[in-house]
Amino acid sequence: MTDLLAGLNREQTQAVTLPPQHALILAGAGSGKTRVLTTRIAWLIQTGQVTPQGLLAVTFTNKAAKEMIARITAMLPINTRGMWIGTFHGLCNRLLRTHHREANLPQLFQILDSADQLAAIKRLLKTLNVDDEKYPPRELQHFINGQKEQGHRPADVEAWDEFTRRRVELFAEYEAQCQRESVVDFAELLLRSYELLKHNEPIRKHYQRRFRHILVDEFQDTNKLQYRWLKLLAGGDGEVPGACLFCVGDDDQSIYRFRGAEVGNMLAFEREFQVPNVIRLEQNYRSCGNILDAANAIIANNTQRLGKQLWTDQGEGEPIRVYEAFTDGDEARWLVEEIQSLVRDGLSRSDIAVLYRSNAQSRVLEHQLFSAGVSYRVYGGLRFFERQEVKHALAYLRLIANPDDDTAFARVVNFPTRGIGARSLEALQDAARTFNGSLYATVSHLTGKPRKAIEPFVAMIEKMRSDTAALPLPEVVDHVLDQSGLREHYLSQKAKDGQERLENLDELISAAANFVAEMPAPEAAVDHPLLADFLAHASLEAGDHQADAGEDAIQLMTVHSAKGLEFDVVFLTGLEEGLFPHDNSVRELDGLEEERRLMYVAVTRARQRLYVSLAQSRMLHGQTRYCMRSRFLDEIPVGLTKWLTPQQSASRQPSPGAFGAGMRRAATAPAQASRDLNGLRIGQAVQHARFGVGTIVAAEGSGADARIQINFGPNGMKWLLLGVAKLEPV
Ligand code: ATP
Ligand code: MG
Repeated sequence: MTDLLAGLNREQTQAVTLPPQHALILAGAGSGKTRVLTTRIAWLIQTGQVTPQGLLAVTFTNKAAKEMIARITAMLPINTRGMWIGTFHGLCNRLLRTHHREANLPQLFQILDSADQLAAIKRLLKTLNVDDEKYPPRELQHFINGQKEQGHRPADVEAWDEFTRRRVELFAEYEAQCQRESVVDFAELLLRSYELLKHNEPIRKHYQRRFRHILVDEFQDTNKLQYRWLKLLAGGDGEVPGACLFCVGDDDQSIYRFRGAEVGNMLAFEREFQVPNVIRLEQNYRSCGNILDAANAIIANNTQRLGKQLWTDQGEGEPIRVYEAFTDGDEARWLVEEIQSLVRDGLSRSDIAVLYRSNAQSRVLEHQLFSAGVSYRVYGGLRFFERQEVKHALAYLRLIANPDDDTAFARVVNFPTRGIGARSLEALQDAARTFNGSLYATVSHLTGKPRKAIEPFVAMIEKMRSDTAALPLPEVVDHVLDQSGLREHYLSQKAKDGQERLENLDELISAAANFVAEMPAPEAAVDHPLLADFLAHASLEAGDHQADAGEDAIQLMTVHSAKGLEFDVVFLTGLEEGLFPHDNSVRELDGLEEERRLMYVAVTRARQRLYVSLAQSRMLHGQTRYCMRSRFLDEIPVGLTKWLTPQQSASRQPSPGAFGAGMRRAATAPAQASRDLNGLRIGQAVQHARFGVGTIVAAEGSGADARIQINFGPNGMKWLLLGVAKLEPV
């Protein structure tokens, strides 16, 4: 018997071995929350208090769920197949597949990811002739999801004004459309399974009896409905005793407020369950002292905290390295050079993470990494299953599984083009409304030209279905790629990325093959066909089958997706006002505090070494923006950092240090009075639209690369691209 408790500290041991009661572990980053949770699972099983089937564990991402299973199997030689460990969405999907009849869903219901959902809403507005300027689809999507996350159906929404009343009607129309098409969006997965448990007593009792222990990681990020779902499962009523809820979380890492997550759930949990055990862990085992001090200092600026401090006995370690680049391109080039030198020194690539606040930042970084031949892997972002060509292929597969899936139908009915005109499609939409049927089913009701145009498509799908009925899943995919004409379409494309898209299509076959090989729990496989499972997997587990999986690669991801993970070396990029903290958030205190928690998450991912970088100008969404450095950078105590470049950018609260360093940089730059600076000269005063009046102090580069340095006084020193910056002599 392995000693599971070896190496744990006193509080951790106490948490792992708590008696079967509710518990809340409230602790900062890297203090071993996830380790405690997985060890408790192993310990409960090892000591015979529960069977693997008798517990349910929820975490936030698929990556985290996989990691959890890996950690458990490393501790205990048990078969984790069939165990209920996963994300909320994954577990709800499983519940609904198993009880689809009771949930009023067809067996082969499909899952809409958020892009599909948006497309479905747009289509709905179009069919209903709704002015999409008055009711923007994205806003409506947000409204619908927000309502569902609070557990509301249209009838539950209080609408006092005409605008809201209309939105509620559209919400109801949207629900009807989803039901008609047998599709379920992410929020619906949760709400539907919540309602299933709530209204179906035998099913509820069955699971309440079964799950004796429910464990939740990253509890601070659960939303209201998830919390109610947990309460229902753990509840126990009448003759069924309740399960023990074991929740671990960190209020300082709550970063999904925008999705309705509520730190308040921690307090509610403690109160409503009269939690007898609240344990705090304060020793951090992940990061060196300097990194931890920086994180503590940053988060101390937040006012809304439950309050805790972390310490480490690892020593202070290295200083936090700060790099200020001229442009985002320079930042990326520096980063790649630094990474190459780390790798030369023997570090494996997978121990290095590059983090950014927004997905859009990854393109430049990817480009530089790619050009330098450094292999990397992107988590999140445009993930494999979200790529256009992959979604097209999946749409065909979805139609085979469920012809009533109108979103899939609309996506590929004329892709690759088969000469089906907009008029014919409109006629079809209208007829579908009249007959109250799916697009697919309505084709046979059409007459004339529209019918002639669309009928062959239906015939093709029918043939695909019968041709593939007896084939193994990877061959089904292969067959569909050919018969749909997708392969041919991308083959014939002159476009440079045709090849890449073809590779992605082939990758889909590999994904199907992997999926079959890894087919989980026999229990899950019973009576639902593989194709539907695979499609559900594609919607839920996007990103897990990237082409370079398994290879030693640099890890690229947004700060959001880095939650719970750790790396020896972390590069945190784009520390600029407007980017991090994000523009959208700085106007309200809550928003800013959420950004700061995100910053805290980012900093605490690093074990040994943390780099933070920023650029003075950045091209984002097609526009060059000049940046001030992030206030979060200024919140790191000066003594913990080491600047790799002279400090130049304006700090929001200019410190003498920053200004002084800027001056040093100016003094060493050769003042080239003779250079042609578009009619300007060193020493001249100029006006800049954003930074105000300043004095030109230096210049370098030539042609399109020519840059000048300007002292904007309280707004700091700036290097600006001469050709881009609009400067007026004053
Ligand atoms: P986060 O808040 O970021 O999710 P966490 O609290 O879940 O962090 P873990 O990921 O469980 O923290 O642990 C952080 C690191 O510290 C891991 O590498 C873990 O193995 C290690 N660790 C945890 N407890 C101990 C311990 N008692 N002795 C040595 N290492 C430990
Ligand atoms: Mg964790």
